[in-house]
Amino acid sequence: MSTSDNIKTTHARLEWRENGQPVSSQYNDIYFSTQSGVEETVHTFIKPNQLPERFTGLSTGECFTIAETGFGTGLSFLCAWQLFDDLAVNGARLHFISTEKHPLQRQDFQRALSLWPLLKKQTSELTGIYQPACQGQQHFVFAGGRVRLTLLIGEVQDTLPDLYGSVDAWFLDGFSPSKNPDMWSINLFEIMAQKSHEQTTFATFTAARMVRDGLTRSGFNVEKASGYGKKRDMLFGQFRHTTSLSSVRPEWQLPKATAVQQQHAVIIGGGLAGTSTARSLAQRGWQVTLLEQHPQLAAEASGNPQGIIYAKLSPHHTPLSRFILQGYLYSINLLNQLNDHQSPFWYQTGVIQFPTSEKELNRYQALAEQLPKDLLYMAGAEQIETLSGFSIHHEGLVFPEAGWVKPAEFCHSLSDHPAIKIKTGHNVSSLEKDDNEWILLNEQGKEIIRSEVVVVAAGTHCRKLSVLEHLPVKAIRGQITQLAQTDNSRRLSACLCSEGYIAPAAGNEHTLGATFDFNDSCQSVRSGDHQRNIAMLADRFPGVFSAFNENSSNPVITGGRTAFRCTTPDYLPLVGPVINRDAFLHTFAALQKNAKTLIDGKPEYLPGLYINTGHGSRGLVTAPLSGEVIASMICGDSNVVEYSLLEALNPTRFLIRDVIKGNVQVNGKSN
Ligand SMILES: Cc1cc2nc3c(=O)[nH]c(=O)nc-3n(C[C@H](O)[C@H](O)[C@H](O)COP(=O)(O)OP(=O)(O)OC[C@H]3O[C@@H](n4cnc5c(N)ncnc54)[C@H](O)[C@@H]3O)c2cc1C
Repeated sequence: MSTSDNIKTTHARLEWRENGQPVSSQYNDIYFSTQSGVEETVHTFIKPNQLPERFTGLSTGECFTIAETGFGTGLSFLCAWQLFDDLAVNGARLHFISTEKHPLQRQDFQRALSLWPLLKKQTSELTGIYQPACQGQQHFVFAGGRVRLTLLIGEVQDTLPDLYGSVDAWFLDGFSPSKNPDMWSINLFEIMAQKSHEQTTFATFTAARMVRDGLTRSGFNVEKASGYGKKRDMLFGQFRHTTSLSSVRPEWQLPKATAVQQQHAVIIGGGLAGTSTARSLAQRGWQVTLLEQHPQLAAEASGNPQGIIYAKLSPHHTPLSRFILQGYLYSINLLNQLNDHQSPFWYQTGVIQFPTSEKELNRYQALAEQLPKDLLYMAGAEQIETLSGFSIHHEGLVFPEAGWVKPAEFCHSLSDHPAIKIKTGHNVSSLEKDDNEWILLNEQGKEIIRSEVVVVAAGTHCRKLSVLEHLPVKAIRGQITQLAQTDNSRRLSACLCSEGYIAPAAGNEHTLGATFDFNDSCQSVRSGDHQRNIAMLADRFPGVFSAFNENSSNPVITGGRTAFRCTTPDYLPLVGPVINRDAFLHTFAALQKNAKTLIDGKPEYLPGLYINTGHGSRGLVTAPLSGEVIASMICGDSNVVEYSLLEALNPTRFLIRDVIKGNVQVNGKSN
């Protein structure tokens, strides 16, 4: 991703011709031909990339990756999806990746796609969740995981290099080289080469000389064919050789997907992280066994009665903020797809964040300037009263599509898949390696199960496993308080967040939370902590507080719950493969003398072992997307988040920094 600080997206500016055709005002060019857009796509991209044959030849479990420049109205994606639906075997998957500098606004998008009634099935799924919010990567899942779309929003020269994975077919679309010369540069073709393999093909509508030369120089065989309609020529071809160019420093390199004999994974932990990972793997055709130590899922941090979809964002493009935003958008789409309308566990009430300082207010205002209004906006006191049912007397940042969730029900829904077997009452005490398999042992040293792939999603308990002892995770105690609903509190119609939060009632109780205490391992619910939560409510939202004092002088406490957030020093979760620590210290010892040394070696990972934890106070937003990240790694798919974020999530990051700073012994030497 670009180092640029600006996350603002400039949407496409369109003019509509009488025949319904959209024309870009920015590039003064058409998106497609109204009469023959589908035919043109088939002629220009589908056939020259031999997609009918290649889709037909896929086996169950295989993933085919297409990358496109210029998503535009999404027509090429929809055509590829329809063909994939018709030809690919059950269990095969399509991952379509597309770059776009100026994404269409949702209403323009819907209008443009209404022109293709034959693609209605795919169009209605896509338009339902399409919302390109800001610069960066955004990930969507369709058709129960058979089709995935990753949009790379921003300048192609910034976004494409950050794509992690390889591509099977390129669609070089977008506005023509004469209208959009910035996109068609030699750099683009070099990046394509880095992401291609020997079977990678490409096709493009243009036969411009610089495109032909650029592709040839970057290692593609280039052929000419007749273009569609009035276009005389177009280009297509295949990559000739793999480049071993990698701009990633050796110590940061991630492992290739483990070659497995059986697509079976065991996941330790039945909270949000474990159930999300289980779902993402099951959707990729894996059999999953989910082990949980308690008699039921979601018995620890993921077991509160209500949790808020809360995105604490920064106007600066920090990795944490980017991941939160991508996770937020992904979780909302997922919740909308999974919600059970008979017995809902997701309530899209809107969430309002209130600043606790001048600095925070400035941050909110900067965010509201950068991001689209359907994602977030600043609202004054009057508007907030309309949205929340209470007069708060402050301005706040409104997330209209956010809301609250019943986390345990969400976990159940995530793990409700025929390929997921849940085994509760199993406490994994240690892991042993036997050839290719991990053996999971209980407290008595008895084998519970074995598998080539294991994902540890055990929250704060992960360090009990000796191979993860080195991870710098901390447990932060939190207590929520449940208050009896009153006739007055019933009016609360949005979640309110400040130092703490209060949600509209679930049943007859509102959740009020939560305390935040380091170095506190007390598991019981304490009345003093209830008083702290209530004091927060009285201080931050006095109008709401008084709604609980209807029949008595104090709010009626009906319950409470204590749990532990698992956090890391940089507040980003730990998502990725697990390192062999001793081997790493040995191989990369020289970094301690000079951090710039390019070591001739690779990090040695513990084969098939992954971790997904450290979701802190925002697991509802970060755990589901992290499940997708891990599943992409395990399956060797192009990743659903960009490489720079994979680096920020890499569980080895603290070890690398410790080696460089001299905080850890290398080769037995103390530093
Ligand atoms: C008080 C409080 C309020 C919160 N409010 C919000 C909120 O409003 N919004 C939000 O997004 N987030 C909130 N969070 C954070 C969110 O709940 C967590 O980030 C999320 O639940 C973490 O999920 P997890 O799966 O990583 O961990 P957990 O839910 O703790 O799951 C880990 C699971 O692993 C199991 N396990 C551990 N070790 C073993 C083993 N050896 N063998 C077998 N099983 C094992 C545990 O029993 C547990 O079920 C809150 C957290 C707390 C504590």
